[in-house]
Amino acid sequence: MKEGAILKAYDPQKDKVYELDIEEYVEGAVAWAMPAHFPLEALKSQAVCCRTIAIKRMRIFGGSGCIRFPDYDICTDFRHCQGFLEEDSKKVLWGDDWPKNSEKIKKAVSDTSGLILTYNNNPIEALYHDTCGGFTEDSENVLGNKISYLRRVECGFCKDSPNYSTTKIITLKNLEKKLGINLGYKAARDEIKGIFEEVKTTGTGRIKKMKIGDREFTGDDIKELLSFPSNKFNWKIVTVDFEVMGKGHGLGMCQYGARGMALKGYSFQDILNYYFTGVEIKKILIPPRNKPLISKKIVIDPGRGSKEDLCGPMGISEGFINFEIAKNLMDVLKKEGAQVILTRNSNENKNLIERVNLINNYEPDLLISIHQYFLKPEKEKYIEIYYFPGDKESKRLSECIRKILINTLEVEAVISEADLFILRESKCPSVVIFVSNLNNPQEEKRLTDEEYRKNIVKSILSGIIQYYCGLLP
Ligand SMILES: [Zn+2]
Ligand SMILES: [Zn+2]
Repeated sequence: MKEGAILKAYDPQKDKVYELDIEEYVEGAVAWAMPAHFPLEALKSQAVCCRTIAIKRMRIFGGSGCIRFPDYDICTDFRHCQGFLEEDSKKVLWGDDWPKNSEKIKKAVSDTSGLILTYNNNPIEALYHDTCGGFTEDSENVLGNKISYLRRVECGFCKDSPNYSTTKIITLKNLEKKLGINLGYKAARDEIKGIFEEVKTTGTGRIKKMKIGDREFTGDDIKELLSFPSNKFNWKIVTVDFEVMGKGHGLGMCQYGARGMALKGYSFQDILNYYFTGVEIKKILIPPRNKPLISKKIVIDPGRGSKEDLCGPMGISEGFINFEIAKNLMDVLKKEGAQVILTRNSNENKNLIERVNLINNYEPDLLISIHQYFLKPEKEKYIEIYYFPGDKESKRLSECIRKILINTLEVEAVISEADLFILRESKCPSVVIFVSNLNNPQEEKRLTDEEYRKNIVKSILSGIIQYYCGLLP
């Protein structure tokens, strides 16, 4: 039964949209990424990588979606997001083996259900490649920046790969064409170190003697041995054999290495911990497809009301903005199945003690208190989220919201501890969010735009969903 949150994938080649359960999507991604005949433990490690890549992009988990096709979580272009095979393509690829291979990949995915690779409790860039050819690579040599979990490791497990070492024979003519260079290379008597050396000629240009490899030959010897019509000859090299080790960028998991490890009896956990330095394999809670916040009781406190009102330079009042954001947040939370109340029902003033009593009487699971700053006029695109000092749950809620605000609004967002009355007195995980600096004219103008306010609300909502459904604490 399909229950989990939907992943929206876009296939730019077929101009097709897939709306899939995450685990269903992972099956298609694994089928694309790794040959189905690989051992089960290797397929499981691939499933964890593919799932991590998807979760890292999905907006519901705080990701930024596909940057190229922003309406979707992920695209199926392997050069951009992640390759994917739909059922019909699997049938074409596997032919008669389709039922057997499908079952095997389904098992690899369900055996690792919900597991992803994390570092500091965040999903990692779970990169993988076909064959490393002996060593995986340090991230800075490929991506230009150092990533703690993408370190080089010696891989003695991919020697069986058909791509461990391949020979590419290229003619110099082709080399000139492909590289856009001109070698101007003509037949001559150039010495080639280790091959043709110590060439001596007669006055008329015949080869007197020369060293080929480690032996000396006369011109006549060569004429005899190679059946040349004379001992007066030139030479040029026309092809180069390149020996190429491995296939792919060399970062993260070596897929043939994973195969080799699995054949030696290692588990998928061993494989992933070997190729990704210092990571943790964690299970995420996948939110149900509909109403992920069902049964949650949430209070939204629209901060200061009209009486204590402060206004921006254009005269927009904080009380109004707080109330509009709070109302909108209530609507979207209710759509997700939550029970929600506001601490005040109009843009009125209600004192803090009254609001806190109302909060605690409702016995909520969460409190979100919305405010606006009045800072120096220059300060812009700055959001601050407060939680009570030492309160771990509220800190985690703050971090979930902060991460999504940064990813979606291009703002600076910080979290801080603060001994505020409302945070201290409320008996549930509670955060106070200062959404904007109303003293900044641009910010004040943006806040009059309903769409902008809705984007803020959407981010706070995603943060709350992630607090309940993201990584386990
Ligand atoms: Zn993409
Ligand atoms: Zn390898």
